[in-house]
This record gives sequence, structure tokens and C-alpha cells, in this order.
Amino acid sequence: MTGAQSKTAHSRELYIDGKWQPQSGNGSIDVLSASTEEVIGSVPEGTAADVDRAARAARAAFDGWSQTTVPERAAWLLKLAGALKERGEQIANIISQEVGSPISMSTSIQAGLPVLVTSTYAKLITELKLEQEIGNSLVVREPYGVVGAITPWNYPLHQIMAKVAPALASGCTVVLKPSEVAPLNAMLLAEACQSIGLPPGVLNIVTGYGLAVGEAIASHPLVDMVSFTGSVRAGKRVGALAAEGIKKVTLELGGKSAFVVLDDAPLEKAIPAGARNAMQNSGQTCSAWTRMVVPRSRYQEALDLAAQAIGALKLGDPLDPATRLGPLISATQRERVEGYIAKGKQEGARVVMGGGRPTAFGKGYYVEPTIFADVQPKMTIAQEEIFGPVLSVLPYDTEEEAIGIANDTSYGLAGGVWSGDPERAMRVARRMRTGQVDVNGGKFNPLAPFGGYKQSGIGRELGMFGLEEYFQIKSIAR
Ligand code: NAD
Repeated sequence: MTGAQSKTAHSRELYIDGKWQPQSGNGSIDVLSASTEEVIGSVPEGTAADVDRAARAARAAFDGWSQTTVPERAAWLLKLAGALKERGEQIANIISQEVGSPISMSTSIQAGLPVLVTSTYAKLITELKLEQEIGNSLVVREPYGVVGAITPWNYPLHQIMAKVAPALASGCTVVLKPSEVAPLNAMLLAEACQSIGLPPGVLNIVTGYGLAVGEAIASHPLVDMVSFTGSVRAGKRVGALAAEGIKKVTLELGGKSAFVVLDDAPLEKAIPAGARNAMQNSGQTCSAWTRMVVPRSRYQEALDLAAQAIGALKLGDPLDPATRLGPLISATQRERVEGYIAKGKQEGARVVMGGGRPTAFGKGYYVEPTIFADVQPKMTIAQEEIFGPVLSVLPYDTEEEAIGIANDTSYGLAGGVWSGDPERAMRVARRMRTGQVDVNGGKFNPLAPFGGYKQSGIGRELGMFGLEEYFQIKSIAR
């Protein structure tokens, strides 16, 4: 358990009702390092009985927590943000091991973003209008109830806090199932909650597999709302189970986002920015711009610049501060990505960089950063989410065609546009059927809503829009 340094890294207990309680079953799930392939920790394999205990604790806590005042909840969130910040180094370190993210990025994003998001909600909850008069009615926002949160592994603690922070701020209580592939950071969150004395039952964490724990959460009668982040496949199942119980559902699913480079764009700026975006977290980013759509007249120039930018990213040990690209999270993920690379070749796309396993590493789930040229919009690698360091470069002839290519997948999560003319870029951005678009290198804004069109999801996270999801609306006529 090198680097885990947590008393909970090999726990057989679950954080339920404010204390560590023995698991009801006896299975456990080993957590492997993405770079050494060694076991770095293990967590209990939770069961439906554990979910039931957690849901009851959350339901019992709801009456008290939902009645606390806004300033009280804001103060709890600030304390929680502080406790996460104190553990920042430990969180970054463990996520670099369990996910394989480079430590520089783990520090700023994997550990830093949850602190920022949590403290942001301490402020936003004081700004949200909870009551308004409409004619003879007083319309009030009330916390939705018990929230079931199910999260993936790629930005594990960020995805957790993007649900837990607004849920707690609104007055909801939570049953959380973190990803079974990267659950150790959630154990650190439990420790943080305990260290600040968060009231029992407000946040309960049940580790385990999706089929057992995830499905038990989505179908539990005491859970009022399910907030899910993960694949389309699992999201559909969660949505169907939640529908049976008429629960509210929000889904943050996959993506196949396009970066549209217009013919007047400064390629030397645009292409490296797009290429780095596609490679962030070794491409294991739901909003990654995995399709680069470039003018045919400047195709070769774009390919050369992309290869140059990606070639400059140091592939290596995630714990080395100089590393910019780490391994993939698991052997399964590597197989999946290699399968897509093979499919790309088979369907006639041309590998201009990478395409194999690097030879420099004896261990770890590494894949070479890969660029495909001559990609046609209907090819599998242009349609399906690969979730690895694979960039597809597609040529176009007209602006209209570029927009058509960008919108031609079942997803609609993110995207980018770059043009020498900011108004033209905005015009194209407005026509992209996605939840977020960055124009001319616009930076990620953690206060702006995040979510998908089409099969990328339902609902929004982050900022005020993310907070509003956690409320019921009541009209009191008088
Ligand atoms: P996944 O769908 O396999 O798992 C996500 C979570 O759902 C895990 O906790 C898993 O245990 C659980 N789960 C799996 N099957 C379930 C079921 N039948 N019922 C209930 N829960 C179930 O996804 P993953 O491999 O962990 O993450 C990668 C996927 O997540 C990618 O598709 C990626 O695009 C997506 N993602 C989306 C966003 C977003 O905000 N839109 C963010 C990050 C990741």
C-alpha cells in the first residue's frame, strides 16, 4: 500500500451513519496501481444489504439536515473543503496510483478541483433564491431528499464532489457508490467527513460493483433521486431502474467531442491546444476533443503540428513531476483502446503516430499516444468513445460540412471551435449540439453548467445550474 498511507486503504468497513461499520458480506475488491500493477489497497465488496443500511441512515438524517439553515450548511461545506485541502497531497498521490494521472495534474485537478467545487457551493447556496411570489402563491425550493450518487473512475473525487457538494448544500443527504476501479480517494473523503464531525447519515459511502451496489441504489425505495456519471450502457440501466420508482435521474455520460478548426485559424496555436485537450488524462476524459476537424487545404500542416505537440508530452511514471501522460487505468481499458486502434487500421484510417505499446516500461497499462489520419466520419473510431490517447483527424471542405461532421455522432457533450474571427467562431459554436463548447481556447469554467445533449446525458452539474437539480419545487397558494 505504498503511497496510500491511509488507515482505510485495506478497510473491511463501510462509512455509514457517521461511523465505520462492518460490511454485511465478506468479499473485497483489490485496487491496482496503474503503473506498477501492484495491489495498493482494497475495499469492501458492498451488497444490497449495505445499501439498505446506508439508505435508511440517509433517510433518518434527512429530516434534521434539510432543516439546518443555509449559513449552517455553507459552514459545513467550507469545513469539508478545508479537510479535503489538508489531505490534498495524499489525494493526489493515491489518484496518480489508482488512475495513473500524472502527479502534476492530480495535484491541480484531481485533488484541487474537488476543494474548489466544494467551497464554491458554500457560496452558491447563499445566493440561490429559495422563495418567490407568483400571484397568490409562494413558490419554495426544498431539498429533493435522499440522493443516490454513482460515479466513475477517471476524475473520481471531482465527479463525487460535483454531486455530493451541491446535494449537501441543498439539504439533501447522500448514498454514494464510488467507482470500484478507483475507490481509495473516496475512503479519504470519508475520513475527511469524520474529521470534521459531519452529522451521521448525511453522507454514506458503499463501495462495490455496479451490478450489486449501483443497481441497489438506483432501485432503493428510500432514494428519491439518482445522480449518475459513467458510460451510456450503465446510464441506460440506471435510468430504467430509477424510472420504475419514479425517481428523478440525472445522467452524465460519454462523449465523442469535436474540435472544429476553421480555415482562418492560427494553426500553430489551435492545433497544439486541441491535441493536448485530446490527450488529457491519457484521453480518459469524457469531454476530450477526440475528433479534430480540420480544413482539407491545411490537413498536412495540422497533422504535423498535432504530432509535434503530442510528441512533446512526456510519457512516464505518473508520480514523476515531469510526466504529462501516464498509463491507462487498467488492463481492461488498455485492451479496449487497443481494440479500437486495431479497428481504426482495419477500417482504413492511417496511423501517423503511435499505435502500439511503448517498450520503455516493464509494467503499467501504457499505450502510445496515437494519431489517426484519413478518418472518415462514419468509421468506428470517429463514432465511438475510445477513452484512451487516440486522436482522429478528419478533413472537411466547407464550414457547413465541418458542422455536420461535428454533430454526426450519438453524443453531444463538449467541443471546441477556433477561428481568426471570434464572431465566426461563436456562430459555429452555437450550431454545435453539445452541452459545452470552448471558443478560441476558452478555459474550463467550474462555475458554468456541465452536461450533455443527446446520449451524453440529462441534467447539468457544477455552478448554480448544478445546484438547482437538487431541489423540489413547492407552490403554496394562500
Ligand atoms: P461505468 O459506466 O462502467 O461505471 C460508472 C459507475 O457506474 C461505476 O461506479 C460503476 O460501478 C457503476 N455501474 C456500472 N454498471 C452499473 C449498473 N448496471 N447499475 C448501476 N451502476 C452501475 O463507467 P466508467 O468506466 O467508470 O467511466 C467511464 C465512462 O464514464 C465513460 O463513458 C465516460 O465518458 C463517462 N464519464 C462521463 C462524464 C460526464 O460528466 N459526462 C464524466 C466522466 C466519465
